Amino acid sequence: MTRQEERIRIKRRQRRKQAIMIRRIVFTVCLLIILILCIYGYLNHKRVQTLGGKIDRLEEQLKQSRSDRKNLQKELDDLEKELQEKQKELEKNQAAVYDDPEKPNVYLTFDDGPSANTDTILDTLADNNVRATFFCIAQKGEANEKRYQRIVSEGHTLGMHSYSHVYKTVYADMESFQKDVTGISDYLYQITGVRPKFYRFPGGSSNTVSKVPMKECIRYLNQSGLTYFDWNAQNDDATGKSYTASQLVEHAMSNVKVAGNNVVLLMHDEQTKTATAQSLPKLIRQLKNAGYDILPITDATPLVQHVSKDSVG
Ligand SMILES: [Zn+2]
Repeated sequence: MTRQEERIRIKRRQRRKQAIMIRRIVFTVCLLIILILCIYGYLNHKRVQTLGGKIDRLEEQLKQSRSDRKNLQKELDDLEKELQEKQKELEKNQAAVYDDPEKPNVYLTFDDGPSANTDTILDTLADNNVRATFFCIAQKGEANEKRYQRIVSEGHTLGMHSYSHVYKTVYADMESFQKDVTGISDYLYQITGVRPKFYRFPGGSSNTVSKVPMKECIRYLNQSGLTYFDWNAQNDDATGKSYTASQLVEHAMSNVKVAGNNVVLLMHDEQTKTATAQSLPKLIRQLKNAGYDILPITDATPLVQHVSKDSVG
């Protein structure tokens, strides 16, 4: 073998070694790349799984939120509806007690009840959005208890007209009078939870049947913080004559018109006064047409008293 051949052989061997080395390097690099790709793929898979779980949870939460929102919206709608109804009711009540200074006022007052006629009267007042004043005596029984309660709950003024309405008992002596006033006050308070502030004397403050001087009775009411109202017009339903509903309206209207701008109209709602109850729709219509505000008695009502509370010392 020549030296020339020897060099060629050595060179070939070196190239083979280099080729083997390159293949090994390439193989190792490929293996590393595959390994990295596998790890990357695995991590991605894990991440997707985690994200999937999160998305599921979020979707669940979203569903829950939508359901909550729907429920809240429904509650809100209900509350808004309730508020609207209350506002309407309030407006109606305000309208029923609003005193237009330009208009004359008439205060419808009913004595000697309650009775079944009170129910009819309360229905009519409600239908016409009118408030009135009831000077009541102590009538017993569940039906009457409901009537006292209705008077209060429907925005009317609950006044007192003595416990027994028996003149001989109420006005027998001062002690009897005081006992009677306390009796009706406690009776109405016990049934309605409202302590009445207004009083109407049986027979009025100018009655001549009392055995106690009326000034003594007036002084007692003044000292008790009670305000009494008499009347300056009536529908003549207690004159002993039996008038028809139309006649009662005629009488009331002509008496109201001469009484001035602050009229307290006396009527009755005891069991026998059915014509008064029947006359009420027509009376309210005519009073409204004649330009009257129809109001319940309140602290703001100008006093109408036959014998003034200031006439006693
Ligand atoms: Zn009476």
